[in-house]
Amino acid sequence: MKPLFVFAVMLVLVSCESWAPSNEDVLQSPNVSNGQLAARYFGASTILISDGEHSVLIDGFFSRPGKLYAMKHGINSLEASIQEIMNFNNIKEVDVLLLSHAHYDHILDSGRVAYLKDSIVIGSNLAIKKMSENVNGRGGELKVFPVEVMPDDFPLVPFNIKYFKTPHAPKSFLMQGIEYLYLHKSDGLNYREEGDNYSFLIQHPLGKILVVPSAGFSEGMLQDIEDVDVVFLSVGLLGKQSCSYIKKYWSETVEKTGAKVVIPIHWDNLSGQSLKPTLWPVDNLSKTFEIFQKLADKNESVSLKLPGKFGELFRLDHLYRN
Ligand SMILES: [Zn+2]
Repeated sequence: MKPLFVFAVMLVLVSCESWAPSNEDVLQSPNVSNGQLAARYFGASTILISDGEHSVLIDGFFSRPGKLYAMKHGINSLEASIQEIMNFNNIKEVDVLLLSHAHYDHILDSGRVAYLKDSIVIGSNLAIKKMSENVNGRGGELKVFPVEVMPDDFPLVPFNIKYFKTPHAPKSFLMQGIEYLYLHKSDGLNYREEGDNYSFLIQHPLGKILVVPSAGFSEGMLQDIEDVDVVFLSVGLLGKQSCSYIKKYWSETVEKTGAKVVIPIHWDNLSGQSLKPTLWPVDNLSKTFEIFQKLADKNESVSLKLPGKFGELFRLDHLYRN
């Protein structure tokens, strides 16, 4: 309790909001109709991609408990809250649910969503195991497919989904310590191990969408991917890395894949449904976005778009055709 209290006080004292999202460039529309390709963003790396008929959900983190709430009551998946979000955003079906890795901000609500929507779940053995433990004993009823034993891609006509094992964002010892204290206090140590991390290429006749849910890279990790229309690119903890790291990450995920539109994700503080940026000193978003903007400015065929609201809808086909 004591070190955590000291840390919390320190964080409140030194935290400052150096960057905030703007909604200016984001298209909004209440629903997705047939013949469109759209993505709805729910903070962190939770994104629903839909063509009006079929839907693919990446990760599942909707409950988003506040830090103080979680330290008092635990990091829990709240089924009523998930239902409310699904109803409010008119999400009727989730055909496939893709899990990036086993941390709570990626899989906390995925089991409940999969159960409610009868979705096929694809993820690492560890992510599937953790997810299945968190559905009130209904884990055995889920339709799960460990990515380790899957072929290279999964057809969900007219979508085709490919998975790529990519590194998780590196964490400093300080970050690991802070995270341990938080998870310990909020009864969430079960989510400490991440297991393998995956990025996803989602192809549709209307566009090629790449999702990189964690800001780690290795050279050639997305080899053979080209002509990407939109990349949803995690920036979580990227601001704590060197400028050269950030540029190389951009090179592997944007330049080498030919991505035309970059939508940064995982910039929020993981708490509540009003998306707020992660504060310094946990991350340094100003640094990340300054570098991103400079890199985007160098290539006129690349543009940056920032989602600002929970549940915000992007008409993807509009973004890269305009
Ligand atoms: Zn993670």
